[in-house]
Amino acid sequence: MTFSQLPYHRPDLKDIINQTEWIQSQLMDSKDISKTVDIIRTFFKLQDQYETMAQLVYIRYSLNTADPFYETERNFFDEEGPNVTEAFQKVIQTIIDLEDRKSLEKAFGALFFKKYEQQLKTFDPSIKGHLVTENKLVTEYSKLIASARIEFDGQVLNLSKMAPYMQSLDRNVRHDAQHAVSSFFETKEEALDDIYEKLIKIRHEIALALGYKNFIQLGYDRLGRLDYDQQDVEVYRKQIEEDVVPYVKTLVQRQEKRLGLNAIKSYDLGIKFLSGSAKPKGDKKTLLEAASQMYQEMDNTIHDFFEFMLDHELLDLDSKENKESGGYATLIPDYGYPFIFANFNGTAHDVDVLTHEAGHALQMYLSKDLIPEYRHSTLEAAEIHSMSMEFLAWPWMALFFKEDTQKYYYQHLEGSISFLPYGALIDHFQHEVYRNPQLSKAERKIIFRTLEKRYLPYKDYDDDLFLNKGTFWYRQIHVFSDPFYYIDYTLAQVVAFYFWHAYRVDKEAALKTYLSVCRVGGSMTFSSILESHQLPLPFKQGMIKQLLEPLKVYLNHVDDLKL
Ligand SMILES: [Zn+2]
Repeated sequence: MTFSQLPYHRPDLKDIINQTEWIQSQLMDSKDISKTVDIIRTFFKLQDQYETMAQLVYIRYSLNTADPFYETERNFFDEEGPNVTEAFQKVIQTIIDLEDRKSLEKAFGALFFKKYEQQLKTFDPSIKGHLVTENKLVTEYSKLIASARIEFDGQVLNLSKMAPYMQSLDRNVRHDAQHAVSSFFETKEEALDDIYEKLIKIRHEIALALGYKNFIQLGYDRLGRLDYDQQDVEVYRKQIEEDVVPYVKTLVQRQEKRLGLNAIKSYDLGIKFLSGSAKPKGDKKTLLEAASQMYQEMDNTIHDFFEFMLDHELLDLDSKENKESGGYATLIPDYGYPFIFANFNGTAHDVDVLTHEAGHALQMYLSKDLIPEYRHSTLEAAEIHSMSMEFLAWPWMALFFKEDTQKYYYQHLEGSISFLPYGALIDHFQHEVYRNPQLSKAERKIIFRTLEKRYLPYKDYDDDLFLNKGTFWYRQIHVFSDPFYYIDYTLAQVVAFYFWHAYRVDKEAALKTYLSVCRVGGSMTFSSILESHQLPLPFKQGMIKQLLEPLKVYLNHVDDLKL
């Protein structure tokens, strides 16, 4: 069956609750460990059935936010989701309370229970109403962003379609494009401030109700972090501030020189070369064919996976009106189908989708048969699958970029390094915001701009007073939808740097490690995945500096003025 043929029917809540009650009573009555294991597996099946329908709604609504049918269904999941969570949590509580924990750990692993215990900490029936409100606010944000209609270049464009103008060779066009986007956000300033304020307040209340001091640790627990805490992340951000920011400054100076500017501005940062940024050659069909060839030559397993995606129409890549912005990969559990969602825009981003999102989808494909708790890793580990694939794909980049390949290499590495301070900034900002939930809307913007100057000292907004006020985070969906998630991209990026280097030294060994990491899925924590594969742990003092070294050597040897 192709994706569009997958049947959707709204889950029957009553039936789900009946089934969970039946499972609970069976678990409590069971005297036999193998029977208990079977009952727990029945619970997994029920979870998967529900999750399959939720994913179909989530995907189909994001493909067309103006579709009234899936809008209604999405509302159903927003409103009823917490009830289902509650019913599932009761089963989880029952499983945790079972006597023969040792035997069950043998069947499912000790991490399984740790994950369950952590999940229980993040939920209580008394916060159900708050969770509904939180979900709705996030949906409101997505809708507001998807509704962007920006008049530019004689057209009406959404935010994704504005991206190529930010990379225009004509400085005036870049400048005006930045202002046009800023103007859109300015018209939504009050609405966005309101949504965020409500989100902070509700999350803080939820945290207090669950017995946390504030939302921060709850945010970490929601992300399933079992192996590191705020202090580790703080040490990590400090490494970025000390060891990465100064180097990025030199990269920006090189960019300024390449572009022949005497003062580089924020609207220049998107353009890497006077001859234009590296662009993929050819249309979507050509790029898909190139990706197909690449994966065929890279590895048999990965090739099978990619053909599976194409055969079942599991990629939706075109940017369309009313389609949500951004990109993601997800899994439809009952079918074991990964799905890739993206908005192609003619920039190098399109190739990143075919490598990055494909890396995520590959991991889901490889661990689709694991139990639900182990199918998905925590998010920093998940980004290793995607970001490392971007680097494993390097030898094939000429298929996509032709004469722009060297340029692509430079901008990819440069962009990956420059990303670290931005990621740390978004993370730091959120820690401030949730540590001080009483901040005013204006204070939040000042804090953002102050931190922005620390992490991105080269970012000069010129005459864009709106961004200069500290509003860039409006466009960072994670700030609204997934608190504290953003640093995960940087953690994975640092590990991906290791793969970049390792693959150049020994392709076969690096690929083997990579596939093994993918297969592990979420059956280990981030740190133990790294440890068991002899991969570097980013929190360790001095680690970033060490991992950056070979990349610096590479970049410093490129005569970028010639690109
Ligand atoms: Zn990703």
